[in-house]
Order: sequence, then structure tokens, then C-alpha cells
Amino acid sequence: MAKVCRCCGQEIKSDSKYIWILDNGHGGIIDGVYQTAGKRSPIWADGTQLFEGEFNRAIVKRIAKYCDENNIEYINLVDTNEDVSLSTRVKMANEVYRESDKPCIYVSVHANGFTDESANGWEVFTSPGETQSDHIATVLYEEVEKEFPNYKMRKDTSDGDVDKESNFYVLIHTAMPAILSENFFMTNERECKTLLLSEEGRDRIAKSHIEMINKIENE
Ligand SMILES: [Zn+2]
Repeated sequence: MAKVCRCCGQEIKSDSKYIWILDNGHGGIIDGVYQTAGKRSPIWADGTQLFEGEFNRAIVKRIAKYCDENNIEYINLVDTNEDVSLSTRVKMANEVYRESDKPCIYVSVHANGFTDESANGWEVFTSPGETQSDHIATVLYEEVEKEFPNYKMRKDTSDGDVDKESNFYVLIHTAMPAILSENFFMTNERECKTLLLSEEGRDRIAKSHIEMINKIENE
């Protein structure tokens, strides 16, 4: 049965093998008010500040635009500035997974933070144990490493792959392979200003995720 758009009734054409479930972590900004406690950079000397949920949305928006233009099926899971709870996110994703005749892959986009400003670099998480997610995370890791050769790649290779493992709610409760990217540190001034707050940095971070999607789609 052909899929039709819920808004306009048009047939959705999709050549992709997977449905990419894109999850932008935390809330956005509504009427100038950031919807999530914490999850922000310090206010830098020049007055700039990053709100993580705004950044996460900017990245997912870029990935979604690419998917639209290239017939890759995806869901923008949290297409709102509200801070939708983790349990609701997972419930919605699992519903898509159950109703879909295609395999799904869950990608949660975040920026990192730490109390010590010196912490820096990029890392990706999967749920513990060897799963299909490990391979997807490794592909993303390699794309980021290629795109950002002058930045630190944080990895845990004790289990034979580069992803770190964590019991993050969205990783262990989703029914499909799931990864969570921590795209550099908003609490590190260099990374926050040159990568997270800049359009160019955002484009490059999105590009790494897009390259991952292309690689996995074409395997
Ligand atoms: Zn986050």
C-alpha cells in the first residue's frame, strides 16, 4: 500500500531501506524562553550562549532537509520546541517501528557538557552489549573523525568497537537499533563557539550524520 502524507494526502516516495527516526534532545525555545533546565553553555565573554535543545534541533533540521531532498524516509520525532519526555519519545518511536514494514534506526542528537571547561571532543553512545547499533555508531564515528581531524575523538575500545556504552533511556527502551551522538562540548569555549554556535560548524556536524545515513543505506 502506498504511503500518503498525513498533511496533504500526497504519496510519499521513498527509496530508502530504513526509516531514520531523528530525535533532537531536550526542548527548544518558545517565545524567547528555553524549555529545558540546565543543558546550556556558560555565557561567554562576548555574550553568546548555546542552548543545547536549540542546537540539537538545528542539526536534525539539516538532516531532515537532506532526507526530504533525497527520498530518504525519516521521522522528525520531536517536531516541536516543547521538551517532550523521554518516555513519550520512546513510545512514539516504538509505534513507528511496530507499524512500519521497513527497519528503523533511531538517532538521538545532543551536545555534551561538563563541569570542567577543559573537557572536549566528540563521542557516540549505544546501549550495552553487542548490538546492530555498534556498527551504525562506528560508521558515524569514522565520518566525524574524517570531518574533524583537529578535534579529539573520545572512544571506549575495551569491547572491540569505538562507541561508548550507556543505559541512556532512549537507547535501552527503543525497540530498534539506536545511537546517541554527543556532538562536542558546549561547556568548552572553542568547541562551543567554533562548532556549535556557528552555521558552518552545524553544517559539518549535520554532514557527518548524513554521510553515515548514506553509508548505511548503501551497504
Ligand atoms: Zn543532551
